[in-house]
Amino acid sequence: SKGAGRDCYTFFAIEMQLEVLKEQKVEKELNTALLNNELCLYYQPLLKSDTKALIGAEVLIRWQHPERGLVPPFEFIPIAEKTGLISRVDDWVLLQAAQQLRSWLDMGISIPSLSVNISAHRLNQRDFAEYVHKVIRQTGIPPQTLCIEITEENMITNLENVRNTLNLLRQYGVKVALDDFGTGYSSLSYLKELPVDKLKIDRSFVMDMHQDPQDRAIIRTIIELGHGLGLWVNAEGVENEVQIRMLRELGVDEFQGFFFSRPLPLAEFAEHYLISHES
Ligand code: C2E
Ligand code: CA
Ligand code: CA
Ligand code: CA
Repeated sequence: SKGAGRDCYTFFAIEMQLEVLKEQKVEKELNTALLNNELCLYYQPLLKSDTKALIGAEVLIRWQHPERGLVPPFEFIPIAEKTGLISRVDDWVLLQAAQQLRSWLDMGISIPSLSVNISAHRLNQRDFAEYVHKVIRQTGIPPQTLCIEITEENMITNLENVRNTLNLLRQYGVKVALDDFGTGYSSLSYLKELPVDKLKIDRSFVMDMHQDPQDRAIIRTIIELGHGLGLWVNAEGVENEVQIRMLRELGVDEFQGFFFSRPLPLAEFAEHYLISHES
């Protein structure tokens, strides 16, 4: 009946309003978090597939909330993306990662690279390449030690613009990775249009590959495609030894996943991966 329809509409409207209120609250708190240093970085190792040597780490953001404890990115990154606050978050992460590379260099510790996630929102802004350049100049890190991870997910409102930005970054020497490859609607056209150095096979393909021949076929094809284009290929979400054996046989270049390590806080990452245990 009409009445039920109206109730339903009202309920929906209230839910929408609550959602908006929640977003506004998170946005406000996130603003404070940026000022109060409540955000921090975790580090997940990237390992060379043949030797299992450390070849870098992906930095992943966490929010040390005063009341809610450690908040994972899926609870605030999407809201930050919606409100545009993500640009400040991305810039903060990039600077933080570069400063960390700097202080490791100063301590004589070498880590080949750090990978940083940059949202489509930030990537679409014209001053992004300039900002990266400024961070590199300020910290004096070798540009090749920085890798920018981009996703095709709701990417690129202005492909031309993004292509220019990525070209500039690569001229500086910065690496570019295409994240979550294979999950979007236009993976192949991005690959054709955008200059990248690395492909990251999405975890959803790796997850069941040890029991699903179709996933294996997809992964085999992504690796061939990547290598055919001269790209480095990462497999994310590696959780067991069967996957490792299969991915090796298929020729993947780099492993990342809980089997090797979860993302770790700085001290733990440094202790396990950077500081020599020999005395
Ligand atoms: P992502 O870029 O695809 O990052 C990889 C995610 O997979 C991480 O989740 C990591 O903890 C998880 N992961 C790695 N290995 C495994 C595994 O073996 N099994 C399983 N089940 N998961 C694994 P996390 O840290 O929760 O990050 C989620 C997403 O949030 C990221 O996905 C990225 O899209 C976004 N994000 C994280 N940090 C940042 C950031 O600093 N800036 C931006 N813009 N986005 C970020
Ligand atoms: Ca990533
Ligand atoms: Ca990913
Ligand atoms: Ca993702």
